[in-house]
Amino acid sequence: MLALFSKEEGLEPVTLDGRRVDVLCNAGGLEEVRAAPGYGCGGIGLFRIEFAYMVRQEAPGEEELYGLFKKSLEVLGGRPLTVRAPDIGGDKPVNFLELPKEANPQLGLRGTRLLLEYRDKLLRPLLRAALRAAVHGDLRLMFPMVSTVEEVEELSEEVRRAEEELRSEGFEARVPRLGVMVEVPSAALLSRELVEKGGLSFVSFGTNDLTQYVLAADRGSAHVGKVYDELNPAVLRLIAYAVDKLGGRAEVEVCGEMASRTLAVPALLGLGVQGLSVAPVFVGRVKYVVRRIDLEEASREVREVVESASTSREVRAWARSYLERRG
Ligand code: PEP
Ligand code: MG
Repeated sequence: MLALFSKEEGLEPVTLDGRRVDVLCNAGGLEEVRAAPGYGCGGIGLFRIEFAYMVRQEAPGEEELYGLFKKSLEVLGGRPLTVRAPDIGGDKPVNFLELPKEANPQLGLRGTRLLLEYRDKLLRPLLRAALRAAVHGDLRLMFPMVSTVEEVEELSEEVRRAEEELRSEGFEARVPRLGVMVEVPSAALLSRELVEKGGLSFVSFGTNDLTQYVLAADRGSAHVGKVYDELNPAVLRLIAYAVDKLGGRAEVEVCGEMASRTLAVPALLGLGVQGLSVAPVFVGRVKYVVRRIDLEEASREVREVVESASTSREVRAWARSYLERRG
C-alpha cells in the first residue's frame, strides 16, 4: 500500500497555497541516517541514540559520540541532523547505572531528569561531542521529557560551560540549535517560557508520550487502547495552546507517530506545525497529503473543530471530509 506513494518521495512538500513543510525522518542508528535521503527525507528530525547506551557496560564517551554525529552529518550532505539526547531510565534501564526501582517508571527518573542527575557520565560528554560536531554541519540537539523551566535553565548553563571548556582546551566548537521535546503537559503549557529561558530555537512534539500523559493512558498497554488516541481534542487543544503561546518564537515540529498519520497531518499543519518527522516508509504518503492541503483553509477549519469537538470521532470526521474535498 505504501509503495503506492513511493513516487511522491521525490516531490517537494509544499502546500497548495505555497507553504513549505519540512518532511524529515526518524532514525535509530547510522545506517538509518544513511538511508534517509534515499526516501526523500529533508533531514533527520529525530535521531534516537539510545542504542549507543543500552546493552552496554559503559556509557559511550565523548569521542564515540563525536564520531557518530560527525559521520551522520557527512552522510546527510548538508541536511539537518536533530540528535535527541538519550531518553534512557524509567522503563529503559541501562547496565552501567544503578537506577532506583520505581513504582511508576514513566513518571520517574528518565530522559532529561536522568541526564541532569548523571552529568559527568551522561550529559557533559554528550554536550562536548555535540558542540564539536556542530562545526561540521547542521546539527541540532534536543532534550526529551523536559517538564520544567528549571531544567532548561540548567541545560543552558551546562551548554555554556561546555563551550567555554572546549574553547579553553583549543577545540573548535559551535553551540548547535537547541530544542526540547514537548512530551509532558507542563512543557506544552510552558512552551514560551521554556524557549525564552532555555535559549531554544525549536520544539518538537513527542506525541507518543504527550498523548500518554494527557490522557493518563499507558502507550504500551493493550487495555487502554480506546483511551489512548492522538486525535482526542484534549491532545489537539494542548498542541494548539503551546503553538499559540510560542507565537513564532521557535520552529515547531512533530516527531511522534502522529506525524505520519494521514488524518492527523491536516490538523497538525492547520495548528501551525512546520515540520513532520516520520519513519522513512511514510515520507511519500506524508508528502502526498501535504501537497493536498490549503494551509489557510485547514487552519481556519481545524481551529473551529478543535474548539467545538468533544471526541476524536468528530476530529476524524472533519479530517476525512477535508481530505476527500481535496482529492
Ligand atoms: C514520542 O514520545 O513521541 C517520541 C517521539 O519519543 P519516543 O517514542 O522515543 O518516546
Ligand atoms: Mg517520547
